Amino acid sequence: MGFEQNIRKVEPYVAGEQPKNPGVIKLNTNECPYPPSPLVKEAEGKIDYEKLRLYPDMNAEKLVDALAEYYQVKPSQVFVGVGSDDVLSMAFLTFFNGSLPVLFPDITYSFYDVWADLYRIPYKTCPLTEDFHIRKEDYLVPNGGIIFPNPNAPTGVLEEVSMIEEIIRANQDVVVIIDEAYIDFGGESVLPLIDKYENLLVVQTFSKSRAMAGMRIGYAMGNEKLIRYLKDAKFSFNSYTMNLPSIEMGTAAVKDDAYFKETTGKIIATRERVKKEMKKLGFFFTDSMSNFLFAGHENVPAGELFRALKENDIYVRYWNKDRISNRLRITIGTDEQMDRFLEFLRSYLNN
Ligand code: PMP
Repeated sequence: MGFEQNIRKVEPYVAGEQPKNPGVIKLNTNECPYPPSPLVKEAEGKIDYEKLRLYPDMNAEKLVDALAEYYQVKPSQVFVGVGSDDVLSMAFLTFFNGSLPVLFPDITYSFYDVWADLYRIPYKTCPLTEDFHIRKEDYLVPNGGIIFPNPNAPTGVLEEVSMIEEIIRANQDVVVIIDEAYIDFGGESVLPLIDKYENLLVVQTFSKSRAMAGMRIGYAMGNEKLIRYLKDAKFSFNSYTMNLPSIEMGTAAVKDDAYFKETTGKIIATRERVKKEMKKLGFFFTDSMSNFLFAGHENVPAGELFRALKENDIYVRYWNKDRISNRLRITIGTDEQMDRFLEFLRSYLNN
């Protein structure tokens, strides 16, 4: 009894560590190893500090317009938020309001079940296949909504647009959210389908491919009606979420497409090189199309490798969870960082 009986008790999401030691090779939270576009720095220098006394534009119009122009959609089809976590959280609150369970994979972004629990949304997880693919049939049943990342996290596995389209087409009475946090590393986006299916919401982020995790910018694109409902919920929650520097610097990032392509291209090239080297060392992994690898070793348990790497100031991510306890999720760093990572593995595995 007492005051605690009326409290909303939740088990929070556990994010990867942000170590204080600057010497660490940080391959544990899928950040970009390169800085943001130089245009972002320039935009920061131009921010009028006197303007900070005013509330920011609650519609973040400048950023919304830049995104709409870049993706060739209408501004009314774009919603922005404080990281895609904010956007996804609002989308759960807005769209998953039925009594049937929301469906998502058993191995996926571990924030989904946290939001479902927080908002008391019923959900059901659908087991991925042995090689971590989605089984389409699992999503062709009555449900209260669908969400999954493409490529999936932490597996890096990319699904075909045609398969996702079948899921969207078969579920036009609910909202289907495709979380494309990692789509810019070689995947094909389902964005062109938003004009064909009113029930599709595509969510992306500035945190990985645009190297701005620290600014906290995410966005969703979809049918105007969906975006309107999302805004209604958002403006019933907190109007002024995006601050002025984020709007200015985010807009600058969108305008530097050459830098964006160069950075993602470098990460893809490093990823493919590291795959070859790790294979030689006895690792097995999914054919990741994201900015991380999901790898295990044929002889050495992942938990042991995780600890050994950490003792040597190389941080990767490890979950002691069913089905994935013998895998590490390794963010792709710079070539130099990855060479040091590989060098450590070579010497560790030889001793
Ligand atoms: N979706 C997926 C699949 C992710 O891995 C992440 C990163 N943790 C996010 C969304 C959220 O990223 P952010 O809030 O930085 O945009």
